[in-house]
Amino acid sequence: MAFVKVSDILKMADKAHTSAMAFNCVDFNTAHSVIMAAEKLQKPVIVMLYPGHCTDSRWTTPAAFAPMVISEANKVKVPVALHMDHSSDFEYIKAAIDCGFTSVMYDGSMLPVEENLKNTKMVVDYAHAKGVEVEAELGWVGFADNEKDQNNTDMYTSPETAKRFCKETGCDSVAVAIGSAHGYYNKTPKLDLDRLQQINAATDTPLVLHGGSGIPDDQLEKAFTMGINKFNVGTEFLGLYFKTVVEYAEANKHDPKHIILDMAIPVQDALMAYLHQKMQLSKM
Ligand SMILES: [Zn+2]
Repeated sequence: MAFVKVSDILKMADKAHTSAMAFNCVDFNTAHSVIMAAEKLQKPVIVMLYPGHCTDSRWTTPAAFAPMVISEANKVKVPVALHMDHSSDFEYIKAAIDCGFTSVMYDGSMLPVEENLKNTKMVVDYAHAKGVEVEAELGWVGFADNEKDQNNTDMYTSPETAKRFCKETGCDSVAVAIGSAHGYYNKTPKLDLDRLQQINAATDTPLVLHGGSGIPDDQLEKAFTMGINKFNVGTEFLGLYFKTVVEYAEANKHDPKHIILDMAIPVQDALMAYLHQKMQLSKM
């Protein structure tokens, strides 16, 4: 029975002055690989589902995904938590909670601060009453293919605002904007670690770093000692998944009968090798 809450894992990360790893998964192959890699390395892990990966119910749905992850988590000894990534839709969040998500993200980062604060508090009040945790976002983590998003310090998280935001909303963790961005980077990012240190000094709330695909390891190692307790990886991990599927299908196209079932093994092996290397960054 190793299914735990995200906060349990974040507390362990904080105690070890490091970050827990959180991976965006889309199906059994990805979620199972993450949980198996965690068990092998004896490192706690967070499995995330991104609503953008469920816009067509033929791909996956929160209702199908949550029980699958909980069932897999309960087969291992290492702590595994489940989290719904970025949603700005309160109704969607309510439905995810009803499906069994014990942690959700409310992303109001595109709104003016006061509106973000008000909405986040509303989601937190609703979720906490149901025993569910909430990750918020303050400042705006943009898109890596747009360098302006990465370098626009106006969108970075302000330490003073973070202090008030976390206190007033009661959020369980907060994603900060300090120079990372979502997707593949055109230019190597440079995290604003001074700002991170100031945010960390301003609040006790665990901090989350998004846009984890392509930040150099030395910067991550520093950030992980400065209050980042949850590190989100999506693009790199899913990119490897799709690449491995395509390569396997191409190499075995003359034996289609075996492709579908047999493919899971080499694909999960490739994902596990990547996860093994990435998860070493977490010193838990
Ligand atoms: Zn994100």
